[in-house]
Amino acid sequence: MLQPLFEKVAFIGLGLIGSSLARVIKAEHLANDIVASTRSQKTLEDAKALGLISHGYADPIEAVKGADLVVLALPVRATQKVLETIKPYLLENAILTDVGSTKGNVVEAAKAVFGENLPAGFVPGHPIAGAEHTGVHAGKVDLFANHKVILTPLPSSGQWAVEKLIQLWQASKAEVICMDVEKHDEVLAHTSHLPHLMAFNLVEQLAKREDNLDIFRYAAGGFRDFSRIAASDPQMWHDIFFANKKAILNAVDGFEAQLAIIRKLIEDEDSQALMGLLGHAQAARQHFNHMLAKKPLMEKNKVTQQFTIQPGAKTFQGKFTVPGDKSVSHRSIMFGAIAEGTTHVTGFL
Ligand code: NAP
Repeated sequence: MLQPLFEKVAFIGLGLIGSSLARVIKAEHLANDIVASTRSQKTLEDAKALGLISHGYADPIEAVKGADLVVLALPVRATQKVLETIKPYLLENAILTDVGSTKGNVVEAAKAVFGENLPAGFVPGHPIAGAEHTGVHAGKVDLFANHKVILTPLPSSGQWAVEKLIQLWQASKAEVICMDVEKHDEVLAHTSHLPHLMAFNLVEQLAKREDNLDIFRYAAGGFRDFSRIAASDPQMWHDIFFANKKAILNAVDGFEAQLAIIRKLIEDEDSQALMGLLGHAQAARQHFNHMLAKKPLMEKNKVTQQFTIQPGAKTFQGKFTVPGDKSVSHRSIMFGAIAEGTTHVTGFL
């Protein structure tokens, strides 16, 4: 029988994210033993009843003793205190990772505890998957499947530790990407933190209105889609907004500038420019969808000829779309480039 990846895994914090990873470790037999430490006894009892852990400890020191993998799956603001507590009890070659939504402040917390010589086993991480629900019961074995997990190895991180964590996350069917801590925080400020901030803010804007009941009662699908993430945990997002303050404020500035542009176009009734902006955003969104789905922008069925032959007639009729032509596509760009306003090209190769 194959050796499991880890002997003993210790989770500090076992809510949505921690328990989902524990479920993967359990299902894929990646460790001989899984233990946890959380704030409440109830979480530990529930985790045991769910068969996720063999032992639960109020004291994180007890959990990390003899563990070759320690996963911090708690709010990022608790990182430094926990690291201070467990530092003397970590195995020399233990892998130490986290799942926090911000990385710069986790690394700062680790430096405050370990100094500049961070342990080689320390590799921060962040699964880009989640839900509005929290707690050990909210976890799912497939939470990370087909999602991305970002690891932010530091110059001090050992390649052996990075490789083992890649294997761990790949077992959850996630795609693992490595990037710099700063890059992570900047990218996430735009793609996750700003949208959450906007959702919370929009719901707050509408909730403050006197006719808020009518507004919510007649809310259309668009509002529901857009505001879904405002149901996320306020404490967690409070922490994230402060933890990634600089990058988030940059993203908010960018949003304000763009908002001012679209506001002005509506005020001036600049139809052509507004159409250009909306069309460009729509095309970018479609391109993005296809890019993520690893599909070409041009769907196959859009370029396949589809027609019906009328029985008995010598000719046939129907509607069909021919594949885009390369040189005509080139020319369409050239004409677009020298034209004023917006150029719409269909059937581009
Ligand atoms: P969660 O479901 O609320 O679970 C948090 C866990 O941490 C709970 O087990 C809690 O203990 C424990 N905990 C809280 N404060 C603690 C403290 N001061 N000391 C020790 N344990 C403490 O949260 P989660 O959604 O799993 O989030 C955990 C981490 O994942 C956060 O850093 C978050 O940024 C990150 N993350 C979240 C998402 C998401 O969508 N939720 C996505 C990606 C990353 P009790 O059970 O006893 O309360």
